[in-house]
Amino acid sequence: MKVSFSYLERQFGANPLPNSQWHYTERIFKALRAFITTGDFTLGAKLDEFENTFARFTGTTYAIGVNSGTDALFLSLKALGVGKGDEVITSAETFIATAGAIQAAGARPVFVDVNDAFVIDEEKIEASITKKTKVIIPVWFTGNAPDMSRIEKIARAHHLAIVEDSCCAIDASYQKKKAGSWGVAGTFSFHPLKNLNVWSDGGMITTNSSTLARKLRLLRNHGLVSRDKVKFFGFNSRLDTLEAVIALEMINDVPALTNKRIANAKRLDEAFRAIPEIDIPPRDKRVRHVFHLYMIRVKKRDALLRFCLKRGIEAKIHYPILLPYQECAKSLGYKKGDFPKAERDISSIITLPCHPYLKDEELEYMIDTVSQFYHHKGKRP
Ligand SMILES: *Cc1c(COP(=O)(O)O)cnc(C)c1O
Repeated sequence: MKVSFSYLERQFGANPLPNSQWHYTERIFKALRAFITTGDFTLGAKLDEFENTFARFTGTTYAIGVNSGTDALFLSLKALGVGKGDEVITSAETFIATAGAIQAAGARPVFVDVNDAFVIDEEKIEASITKKTKVIIPVWFTGNAPDMSRIEKIARAHHLAIVEDSCCAIDASYQKKKAGSWGVAGTFSFHPLKNLNVWSDGGMITTNSSTLARKLRLLRNHGLVSRDKVKFFGFNSRLDTLEAVIALEMINDVPALTNKRIANAKRLDEAFRAIPEIDIPPRDKRVRHVFHLYMIRVKKRDALLRFCLKRGIEAKIHYPILLPYQECAKSLGYKKGDFPKAERDISSIITLPCHPYLKDEELEYMIDTVSQFYHHKGKRP
């Protein structure tokens, strides 16, 4: 059996699941055909519609479509006036884009260790705050929530802004409040392997601040207030209207798709709890974890990874090198031992397919395979 990490073949390809209401190709082609004849390709009505839908979805007032999740982070920092000499606090365990955006804005990324659930350890944030700190970027890594209510208090006490890296966490929430609605800005990615995925790169910024929204709309479009007038230097980072058309065909299904991910994760958790070599991260009841990644800690990780790959299960490591120790981050001066929990994770984490297009027999096959590796009798329901 082959269990793919990617679900694009089943979502858009020639082999949809039988009776799948989540196969989008024809629906999107139909919408695109109608759209193309309008010629309204840059900004325009369909982008407005998607932005409004997205703001409503995240429980925010404004949404601003941009080029990518990375640009969503970068432009949010720019709009907040972050630049040279400033420090931005974020998690040591994240995708490179979080730190890359800070660096691109001209500021210095300051990394904080994670807790057992792969998100920033809120208790370690205050020790990293200096006079130069301007922003905290909590990352909803794997689709899980950081302790946003505690982070909000810390930020308020130190007059810092929060920009959420909720790039991989659409539809996630903490204490019923959605990802992207906690900070002064929330950021999202529509990369083909994110939970709401268009056919290329795309991103969104959410905010409740009309001032910030206005600034961001200018920043993403060269600072143009009209065809002829430029208020300040900006960028070309618009979300392509074509991508808004695609996303509009899928966004209403996101909660159902997320629920399927959650159900898959629950089944894996149940089975893996019986295996002592597997350490399932704490599942906090206050969190709607959307399982962009199903990530666990395991003993004999490298051997398990090989075992899975050999048996057709496309397991992955997110990520094998800790960000502060990447070559690009050398000048920041971090050294081994600075991030004990994140360092432990690097050698023990493994990501298994958990996407909503998995078949039951594929889930059971993964459970059997992993159980077999640890010489454990697979427990069937
Ligand atoms: C995907 C992702 C990004 C970047 O989004 P792009 O659209 O690929 O630029 C940033 N941060 C996290 C945590 C992500 O998962």
